[in-house]
Amino acid sequence: MARIPMIAGNWKMNRTVGEAASLVKELLPRIQGVGGVEVVVCPPATALHVVQGALGGSDVALGAQDMFWADWGAFTGLLGPPMLLDVGCRYVIIGHSERRGRFGKPDESLKPEAARVFGDTDASVNLKVKAALRHGLVPIMCVGEMLPEREDGRTDEVVSGQIRAGLADVSPEAVAGIVLAYEPVWAIGTGMACDTLEANRVTAVIRKTVRDTFGADAAEGVRIQYGGSVTDQNAHDLISQPEIDGALVGGASLDACRFAQIIQVASVIAKNTRKS
Ligand code: PEP
Repeated sequence: MARIPMIAGNWKMNRTVGEAASLVKELLPRIQGVGGVEVVVCPPATALHVVQGALGGSDVALGAQDMFWADWGAFTGLLGPPMLLDVGCRYVIIGHSERRGRFGKPDESLKPEAARVFGDTDASVNLKVKAALRHGLVPIMCVGEMLPEREDGRTDEVVSGQIRAGLADVSPEAVAGIVLAYEPVWAIGTGMACDTLEANRVTAVIRKTVRDTFGADAAEGVRIQYGGSVTDQNAHDLISQPEIDGALVGGASLDACRFAQIIQVASVIAKNTRKS
């Protein structure tokens, strides 16, 4: 079975409720009739409900940017899986580097102690992934190395370790249905996308780790996106790589025109090549 590429937009902490609804209204007509690619938008939590309404009967799916692993309880400020399902989410980003405290472009205004302010670890990522799967949400689990790790030649070891730890105790059948995102931390929000051949190589390392840990069916089924300064300019080169099944897009997903162009590029590639 060919893997269907996925383009997901991570809006991060951007857009009011009204602006979020407008962004969807600008996006939908631009991607009408575009096939062969799955599209997901991940607005901030305050806008999930309204964006779900604005998506209406379109094929664009709704995703959240994070969640807690408990269903309900005394967890001030957090959202659990039933709440995400309640507003219509199908996907949830888990383990984004900004939640793990692995920043690509350190914000000078952040004190050192703030660097781990959200505190996600491989262990908490694993709890979140398993909770999402228990509730029928599809995790988009992010992995990626920081610049010093790359410079030390540790990229493959870092991403493989994140995959094994983040997916510990998940069944091979479930792994086949999730989405992974290779996001080199130094490429996120910096305008410095990873070299396309290198992005493909690391994605192959991730797929091999999945194969070695969960078997061939999981490795052939799991979709692995690339994320890190994807734009309408570099999307074709990145998404056309044989191992890469789409993109997780931050900044460029806030512009309906540019995001639509990335989706169109992915659609053309999907029609011309069959990845499986
Ligand atoms: C992201 O948020 O996952 C991301 C890749 O951001 P950007 O596209 O802005 O680098």
